[in-house]
Amino acid sequence: MKKELLLDSVRGRVLVCDGAMGTMLQAEGLSAGECPEYWNLTKPEKVTNIHKMYIAAGADMILSNTFGANRLKLEKFKLEGKVREINEAGVKNAKKAAGNGPVYVGGDIGPTGEMLEPYGAITAEKAFAAFSEQAEILAEAGADFIIVETMIAIEETVLAVKAAKSKTKLPVLALMTFNINNGDVRTVMGVDTETMAKELEGAGADIIGANCGYGIDSMIEIVRAIKKHTDRFVIAEPNAGLPVIKEGVAAYDGSPDIMASHVAELIEAGANIIGGCCGTTPVHIAKMKKMVERRNGK
Ligand SMILES: [Zn+2]
Repeated sequence: MKKELLLDSVRGRVLVCDGAMGTMLQAEGLSAGECPEYWNLTKPEKVTNIHKMYIAAGADMILSNTFGANRLKLEKFKLEGKVREINEAGVKNAKKAAGNGPVYVGGDIGPTGEMLEPYGAITAEKAFAAFSEQAEILAEAGADFIIVETMIAIEETVLAVKAAKSKTKLPVLALMTFNINNGDVRTVMGVDTETMAKELEGAGADIIGANCGYGIDSMIEIVRAIKKHTDRFVIAEPNAGLPVIKEGVAAYDGSPDIMASHVAELIEAGANIIGGCCGTTPVHIAKMKKMVERRNGK
């Protein structure tokens, strides 16, 4: 059976995306300073298992473990010779978990980790080349969509979206990370939601939204601010509350029940796709899915 296109699917109902990968890998033993994406090659069964847990929790969409697998970031681990292998394996591991089922696999693209000129040393051409290379590999490996996320600089986000749009035929989702200061919603680089919506729509993003930074209560405010400036579908992936240090380890204070209790309001604010970022687990996604299903009238 042919899968319904993502953009058709989201027209009819609210979809659920998966939760965190990074904090789940840490729970599986990933140590500080280790390249999380290298696990796609060295511990593929662990990565696939995390994907499977999110699918079992009810995720309609899962994201490949390729957030930091662009050439510029992999260079820091001396893994620049494995850009193709790591990204291919990332999609393969996710597709293995999804099987022939209806779950969409997203090829995940995160920031370069560098500031672009004139603030930093990376040229726009170099960033565009890195995003183009990654997007092309993710698409060739069989991703159903490309998701650009956790971005704070608008120029870099636009480059990533344009790269994905020019190198693939896939729907492109673009998410930035916002802070709220006295009701003012901006990324740490000062990008407001109006600029974000205008620029990302102009670059060709099919779905725009926000991830990371805060918990679900603040995300409701951020989605409202985005919705004021766009008619596109909106995706929201809040963290599991805020990080708190418990016995020397960072944990998150937003329980699955707290997150689930805000889902209806997040949908009301305009979210068409709801997932989780840092600190969220399959338990969070399962509880949120129940609320989404109630809303979808199932
Ligand atoms: Zn996050």
